[in-house]
Amino acid sequence: MIPVYQPFFTGREKEYVNQCLDSTWISSKGEFIGWFESEFAKYIGSPHATSVCNGTVAIHLALEAVGIGPGDEVIVPTLTYVASVNTIIQAGATPVYVDSLEHSWQIDPEDVRRKITPRTKAVMAVHLYGLPCDMDSLTRICEEHKLLLVEDCAEGFGTYHRGRHVGTFGDIATFSFFGNKTITTGEGGMVVARSKAVIERAYHLKNQGVSPAREYWHDVVAYNYRMTNICAAIGLAQLESATPIIAKKRQIADWYRAALEGLPLKFHDELPGTVHSYWMCSIALDAAADRQPLREHLKAAAVETRPVFHPCHTLPHCAGEGHFPVALSLSARGVNLPSYPALTREQVEQVCSSIAAYFQRAAVGHATESAGTRRPAAATSAI
Ligand SMILES: *Cc1c(COP(=O)(O)O)cnc(C)c1O
Repeated sequence: MIPVYQPFFTGREKEYVNQCLDSTWISSKGEFIGWFESEFAKYIGSPHATSVCNGTVAIHLALEAVGIGPGDEVIVPTLTYVASVNTIIQAGATPVYVDSLEHSWQIDPEDVRRKITPRTKAVMAVHLYGLPCDMDSLTRICEEHKLLLVEDCAEGFGTYHRGRHVGTFGDIATFSFFGNKTITTGEGGMVVARSKAVIERAYHLKNQGVSPAREYWHDVVAYNYRMTNICAAIGLAQLESATPIIAKKRQIADWYRAALEGLPLKFHDELPGTVHSYWMCSIALDAAADRQPLREHLKAAAVETRPVFHPCHTLPHCAGEGHFPVALSLSARGVNLPSYPALTREQVEQVCSSIAAYFQRAAVGHATESAGTRRPAAATSAI
């Protein structure tokens, strides 16, 4: 089976984890935490970073750290992972959904403008599958309307817009280091911010609201969202390999693009002025009706795939108003292909020839149908 993802450990992960075990510093104190935070901040070009125990609590913490709460509306693309929306609800705010753009799959800035009300407090940009949102438009809209800009960069490590890493445009931004993310700590996350005061608020809230000046003095309802030293040790080693990991993922995308050329689908491609980190190499099929049969065909050929996310407004607990034709269409046509850094060229070509075989078979199936025969598709599988 070729899985959609698997972590990639080629550096000093084991050595650093063993240092934690040998030193007994395995909990959420220890030297690797500060090292990982400062190296991460340096890598993406943000002045401040604080680590947390996963990418979901990172968003919740970020929203609270910039003061988003009950009565506020947060504009968010409906086509995102559920954590973007759950955390808005957990903060007591209301998600207001917007549609996506067909060519980029990212939040539609014109729809953002239409959804602004007097209660809008923030816009959440989600850099879906590794391509950046249109940050020129989003930063302009947020400036014009005095809105906070929050970036969910869980899928955007290694993603750049006009030479700037995502997560450096907004007031606050978050990353995830889940096992299938571009760099991983098993479970883990990071919050980054331009302002020292904002990151200090995030630190205070993630650490039980303990006073920096008085021991065991807690002055706010807060959380334990801390990362462990073991996770930070893995994260530091991953960060040391980040540049080759991203280069390999981009090479895999090039292999897919070349091998899928001419098929009735569109590759989720890089756009001018961007660097796509290809967290997931994804395709949108021309016909939604092909999506499940193609996935079944690939599964039978030992290739795992994922469907693109359900738009959040269709989930029972996140239901919201509006008309989102592009998000619905991308969600019905989209497939994430195996995208992990250790994939070989042969494996990528195997996936692509399986996809091509599906369409050849489908084409022969149609031809025989229109010729009035009832030959089952399986009879043509030797092509
Ligand atoms: C993975 C992901 C998250 C959540 O990260 P976890 O570390 O799994 O909690 C949030 N938003 C998006 C867009 C993601 O892909």
